[in-house]
Amino acid sequence: MGKAELLESAKPLYEENQLLELEQAVDFAAKAHANQKRKSGESYMIHPLNVAMTLVKWGMDIDSVLAGILHDTVEDSNISLEQIENLFGYDVAFIVDGLTKVTKTSESMQQNDTYNPQTKDNLSKLLIAVGQDIRVVIIKLADRLHNLMTLNHLSRDKQIRIARESLEVYGPMADRLGMGRVRMQIEDIAFSYLEPREFKRVKEILDSRIGRSHRKLDQIKTESEQALKKSHIDGEINGRVKSVYSLYKKLVKFDNDVDNVYDLIALRVIVKTKEECYASLGILHSLYKPMINRIKDYIATPKPNGYQSLHTTVITPHEQIVEFQIRTQEMHEYAERGLAASFHYNERKTSRDYREKRELAPLPGNLQWITELQEVVAKLKSGEDISHDQLNIDLFKDRIFVHSPKGDIFNLPEGALPLDFAYMVHSDIGRHAYGFKVNGKIHPFDKPLQNGDVVEVITKKLVMTKPAWRNLVTTSHARHKLRAQLGQLGLNKIFSTEDRSSKNKKSHTKNAAR
Ligand code: MN
Repeated sequence: MGKAELLESAKPLYEENQLLELEQAVDFAAKAHANQKRKSGESYMIHPLNVAMTLVKWGMDIDSVLAGILHDTVEDSNISLEQIENLFGYDVAFIVDGLTKVTKTSESMQQNDTYNPQTKDNLSKLLIAVGQDIRVVIIKLADRLHNLMTLNHLSRDKQIRIARESLEVYGPMADRLGMGRVRMQIEDIAFSYLEPREFKRVKEILDSRIGRSHRKLDQIKTESEQALKKSHIDGEINGRVKSVYSLYKKLVKFDNDVDNVYDLIALRVIVKTKEECYASLGILHSLYKPMINRIKDYIATPKPNGYQSLHTTVITPHEQIVEFQIRTQEMHEYAERGLAASFHYNERKTSRDYREKRELAPLPGNLQWITELQEVVAKLKSGEDISHDQLNIDLFKDRIFVHSPKGDIFNLPEGALPLDFAYMVHSDIGRHAYGFKVNGKIHPFDKPLQNGDVVEVITKKLVMTKPAWRNLVTTSHARHKLRAQLGQLGLNKIFSTEDRSSKNKKSHTKNAAR
């Protein structure tokens, strides 16, 4: 990987003056890193060149690529931000500054013996650094990816720390940006270092299953392709194999019974239009028997990270269970590249709007968490005290959607309880919650909600906030409202720190691999 190769790949994507700037940035960085070596003994420039190459492959805008080349110069040499701003402009300097801050935070975390990236202090620093410009996260992911790929040159101790941080912070971040492929790469490499034996065991399970089902799967693929063609749908069908780490997580959930993992191998159907997606679903269901609870419409209701597809699991006449994922080419591109796709060179408008307002107006899908992140960052910067929960909640938890009986959609963290929903609708609905109906059936206070649930809160004027409810809420919002209401009733002293520590324990076991 050298300068010539990078410029060659960048050539078709950027304008002539931008390419000149890129060449200038490479020379500038090479000078700054002249006396440095990677742990592998190679010249340091290998690293920024690789990072920039990845950003070119992701189709990022030129400022991101320049920042990718320059990302370690301020941290590792005597280059100042002013120099970078003078040579490459305010935006590039702004992004490099964010990247330097993330690196510093991450290093101070790693020097600490009781390493924990999710402590409040570390999280706030990290979020402030990344929250100002979302491109900082995307470049940081490219940086982390190359560091993971060259992790074999570091000490075992460092390998473990970087791998853990990757699984706990960068994997979830890639997921939140909808960057599915990067998330998989980061997680699988990190997992292989963190738990080498488990990695090997799960990979063997995966490989043997793939080997066994290969021929049958080919037959299903041909059969479905022909059925689509008959209905004049020009669809492309490909196999998609689950990542080692995501299979590992499922196995943990299902007591190691691989027969319960239905999406081990999926067939991906890529068609032209949204209408064809639904038509294909119908065709596949007339061909194979669908499993009733496993039809998911992420087109009408995208995942919180913007992911869109129709999912269905079917049973073939040979009693093979296969998951189909149906999507358009556009949805597919977003599922693979996520937010990076909206900085694509041919979508200059997005980049320009973003530069001017730092606002991602035309966000593909439903990326509410970015707005939430920006709100948290604004509060942190204004010195407002923020609870650990508030910091932790949105970035590191999976999200679900639930509906009100009227059809309004609410976005909650996975594991949320009915009272969380009630408080989200309105604090008075929470205050007077008497009971819940979920999908028409009575639902207990302590049973988590599931994606797609229709939740009805039954209120009674006489019911009032109870101290016992503190164990029946999980979101920072509900906790906050509950505390205030208990305070009004003079019941706040009973509020101990107990529930917070037990909650932390829970979130730790969720980050399975350790
Ligand atoms: Mn770096």
